[in-house]
Amino acid sequence: METEIVSINRTDTPESIDRKLSRAGEIIKQGGLVAFPTETVYGLGGDALNPQSSRKIYAAKGRPGDNPLIVHIADMEHLGRIVSRIPEKAEKLAEAFWPGPLTMIFEKSKLVPYETTGGLDTVAVRMPSHRLARLFIEKAGGYIAAPSANLSGKPSPTTAKYVIQDMDGRIDMIIDAQGVEIGLESTIVDMTGDIPMILRPGYITQEMLSRAVGETDMDVTIFDSSSAQAPKAPGMKYRHYAPKGELVIVEGEPQKVVRYINEQTAFYRAQGKRTGIIGTDELIADYCADSIKNAGSRNDSRAVARQLYTFLREFDDEGIDYMYAQSFAESFEDRGFGQAVMNRLLKAAGHKVVKV
Ligand code: AMP
Ligand code: MG
Repeated sequence: METEIVSINRTDTPESIDRKLSRAGEIIKQGGLVAFPTETVYGLGGDALNPQSSRKIYAAKGRPGDNPLIVHIADMEHLGRIVSRIPEKAEKLAEAFWPGPLTMIFEKSKLVPYETTGGLDTVAVRMPSHRLARLFIEKAGGYIAAPSANLSGKPSPTTAKYVIQDMDGRIDMIIDAQGVEIGLESTIVDMTGDIPMILRPGYITQEMLSRAVGETDMDVTIFDSSSAQAPKAPGMKYRHYAPKGELVIVEGEPQKVVRYINEQTAFYRAQGKRTGIIGTDELIADYCADSIKNAGSRNDSRAVARQLYTFLREFDDEGIDYMYAQSFAESFEDRGFGQAVMNRLLKAAGHKVVKV
């Protein structure tokens, strides 16, 4: 399949944007697939109400069929058609955080095919804030099923370059545009019980949610890799966000972390292996490796989030075998979002943490 790559940038006029997104919307209406930017990561979109489209999404990503898709809407009026009930607390959260990086789980209506929900009676819904994403959803008829636009198991793409790397030849169109500012997937909250339950941490933190609706819970499996319980978001059980090589997180006093990481990279380099490090401003000058990435200040969770998946992808491109990242567990000023960043880093590392 030939994939059309459509750029939208500052030279575009409202008319040319309208024309490009109308075409993208037409592709969706005809059962095709279009990758598009959102404020979190790039999404791989198809018509959420068309079972064939959802099947195509799973095939293009190589995604297991029991891992449900998130339905993206642009208009609050549309929510009522795809869910069977809108709990009062969900209305409050929508008012506080939509459009934005929050996904809520509802009981689904008959309109939503089981192909989209991975066989579940519930449906995940999000209203993105990205301007082009919203226009595109409207042009496509209002309901876009979209997981992240990566091959299953790879880090989510935050630039069109990596969407093209994974999806060229597998889907109809890729929209290349700016505005992927957060860099991590949305917060997912299950609204089907009395107390909203966080299934995946993200930019919208537990504290923010609790301020809007009172008590909230967090799925215990999110931070406890040894939990015998299955995660409530099916997708959280899969190895995710992972680079090809081995990534280890190193926790401890800064100078000890540097010493340990440099010993490890020296050891592997002596064996002809390629090594990489994710560090921060404060320690970056002290590291030795084939590829060193600077995530910015160790206190700034937003900067780390924005760059994390790109670093993991670049390590793959550079053929890095062994990677080290200093832990951010203690350093982030913003504990809530910091948790979300550490959750992705831990998953990328397969929960391999060394304490020095
Ligand atoms: P992705 O868009 O690739 O980040 O994947 C969507 C995430 O949402 C996966 O982790 C899914 O397991 C989760 N998800 C989607 N729908 C549901 C649902 N109905 N119940 C629980 N989790 C869901
Ligand atoms: Mg994903």
